[in-house]
Amino acid sequence: MPLLASASMRAFHHPDQARHTPRFFLIRGEVRPNYEVPERAASLLLGLEALGIAPEVAPVPDRAALLRVHTADYIEFLSTAAAAWAALPNAGPEVVANTHPTPDMLANGARPGGHVVGNAGWYTADVACPIGPGTWEASLSAAGVALAAAAEAAAGRSAYALCRPPGHHAYAARAGGHCYVNNAALAVEALRAAGATRVATLDIDSHHGNGTQGIFWERGDVLTVSVHGDPSRYYPWFVGHAGERGAGAGEGRNINMPLAIGSGDGPWLEAVARGVQAVRDFGAEALVVSLGFDASEHEPLNALSVTADGFARAGEMIGGLGLPSAIVQEGGYNVDLLGTLLQRFLTGWGAR
Ligand SMILES: [Zn+2]
Repeated sequence: MPLLASASMRAFHHPDQARHTPRFFLIRGEVRPNYEVPERAASLLLGLEALGIAPEVAPVPDRAALLRVHTADYIEFLSTAAAAWAALPNAGPEVVANTHPTPDMLANGARPGGHVVGNAGWYTADVACPIGPGTWEASLSAAGVALAAAAEAAAGRSAYALCRPPGHHAYAARAGGHCYVNNAALAVEALRAAGATRVATLDIDSHHGNGTQGIFWERGDVLTVSVHGDPSRYYPWFVGHAGERGAGAGEGRNINMPLAIGSGDGPWLEAVARGVQAVRDFGAEALVVSLGFDASEHEPLNALSVTADGFARAGEMIGGLGLPSAIVQEGGYNVDLLGTLLQRFLTGWGAR
């Protein structure tokens, strides 16, 4: 009896994501062009096309949908900062903080005073998250893309969310590292609200998913697993160590697997396999994958030297869990290769 052709995985995107066109980026004291460009999404769309998957435009959510993860004051900042900044005398084209509250200030009762310059420092972790005129609209539409994939997962299927800007470095009340709204965390909360009692996140972006870790730090119902470059050598520098295991009800529900810079396929795939086993042991009913391609050997800031075959194998292992999954796009900045890597990952998964 001939096998029936399996239905292909649904994928979602939104054209408004291209309205986020960040310019500012700082590397070793030099201002450089920002890597997180709209061309990334164009490359990923080509990867879907090569698979024969036609992406659908996701509905843009009401901003209230973001409050399951983010604080109201932060969302107010994100949605108004660009206009407030543009009204300043001699303002540059994007909101970029030039000061942040230090732990010493916080210990002495530091608080934001309401001016956009102070707020920029308060609500951002670093200078890698410039806010321009289209950043809020792009972030809101990216959230909708993740929520559309989560709705598919809630219905028992798996789907791919072409989110841009990415989200896993964003905390409940702080942007950072190209991220503003934590798309993966929104997908987790949507799955919880839809009735999944235990939801896992598996983050294979080359950077530690510090925002996701922070959001679910004390949660017993959400497992967060991250495979990433050693933070003593790599962004986000201060967290991402193996000893960070969660707190309270979340004790033991956070698993970090930092890898030596330049690890290559072997150690990376071994860590992904351990992450997959942890998701299985947790008894997750649904999964959110934070899918970054910046572990690639051809990444501009190469850290983990993973091959295209490695990504295909990772897709096979994670898809092999058989869990309803929202696959949420995070980083990866080689615009010539992103589409191919997505194609290999999803083919490994069995998406087509
Ligand atoms: Zn990354």
